Amino acid sequence: MTANPGITGKTKLCGLMGDPVEHSLSPAMHNAAFRALDLDYAYLPFQVHSGDLPAALQGMRALNIRGLNVTIPHKVDVIGLLDELDLLAEQIGAVNVVLNSSGRLTGYNTDAQGFLSMLAGHDIEPQGKNIVVLGAGGAARAICFALASRGATLTILNRTPARAKACAEDISMAFSMKVNVLKLNRKNMAHALPGAGMLVNATSVGMLPATDVSPVDSDLLGPHLTVVDIVYNPYQSKLLKEAAEAGAGTVSGLEMLIWQGALAFEIWTGRQPPLDVMRKAAVAALQKCHCEEPFLTCLCEEPFLTCLCEEPFLTCLCEERSDEAISGNNATYEN
Ligand code: NAP
Repeated sequence: MTANPGITGKTKLCGLMGDPVEHSLSPAMHNAAFRALDLDYAYLPFQVHSGDLPAALQGMRALNIRGLNVTIPHKVDVIGLLDELDLLAEQIGAVNVVLNSSGRLTGYNTDAQGFLSMLAGHDIEPQGKNIVVLGAGGAARAICFALASRGATLTILNRTPARAKACAEDISMAFSMKVNVLKLNRKNMAHALPGAGMLVNATSVGMLPATDVSPVDSDLLGPHLTVVDIVYNPYQSKLLKEAAEAGAGTVSGLEMLIWQGALAFEIWTGRQPPLDVMRKAAVAALQKCHCEEPFLTCLCEEPFLTCLCEEPFLTCLCEERSDEAISGNNATYEN
């Protein structure tokens, strides 16, 4: 690792635009990556309320902000405010990365590849699986497109069925396949989950600070399911805890966060992202966020840490240990 150049007159600014943003691990992850490659960049969180989105994009141009991540609730609405869209973002209908090239704003989607890389790291192959996806917001759209592109069969449940229907229609059109749509409620989950092999929570239910709620009643979970929760803060959501108790396989969204962030880093800087540095910074930031929770205890119930390292978690984070010590993802980096 080289010396930190600090903020200079030439520092390029990147950031995260959403509401809320306080829970985000992206500032820790990206600033660590900039420092590791000695890049004169900085990353800040910006809380942007829905009505302020057009002004925020104008601000991005006016202040020459190089790049923004886009999160809840702006991933779909931001599209109409951009100058152009990358093909994948256009197909998906959601943007989580914006690049500013001399005032011209281009939208990208790295959530889809981030999700697939996370599954690959867990040796999960979507091909031929019946998958229930909860949610139809920006992240859910990316995940549904990613899963459809890999040959999965989809059922989408959302609180607002019209959004799920729109998502399903776009996927049906793109991949010539039938997508089932249901309103998100207990009755429909009881109908859909017994025949499914995987459940993906792509709603924000369970995310910090409301961590004591789950989108699924625990009695509907069982060993036939692999449960993926893209909520990464807390690392082990209530849904994942209950899924593990019910004998289901569990995958936390932290690796998706790292992979989608790595792809965004490359779009903004043109440099190969230092994945291990980003992973280590995200894990360390997550641990800090949860200083009041028994983080170590939560994690030791999952295979995550044991497969990352034979040693206790805190030892892994220590500076003396190599990055490989917390590098458990064997997915290859693709762009
Ligand atoms: P979004 O576009 O605002 O969509 C939010 C989704 O959650 C919608 O489907 C919404 O349903 C649903 N929802 C919100 N509150 C609900 C409630 N009380 N009950 C039932 N459904 C509810 O947000 P997003 O960008 O897709 O993000 C969704 C979640 O994924 C967030 O927690 C975000 O942090 C996480 N995420 C993680 C990663 C990662 O890398 N791990 C990447 C992207 C996002 P309606 O349509 O009815 O409003």
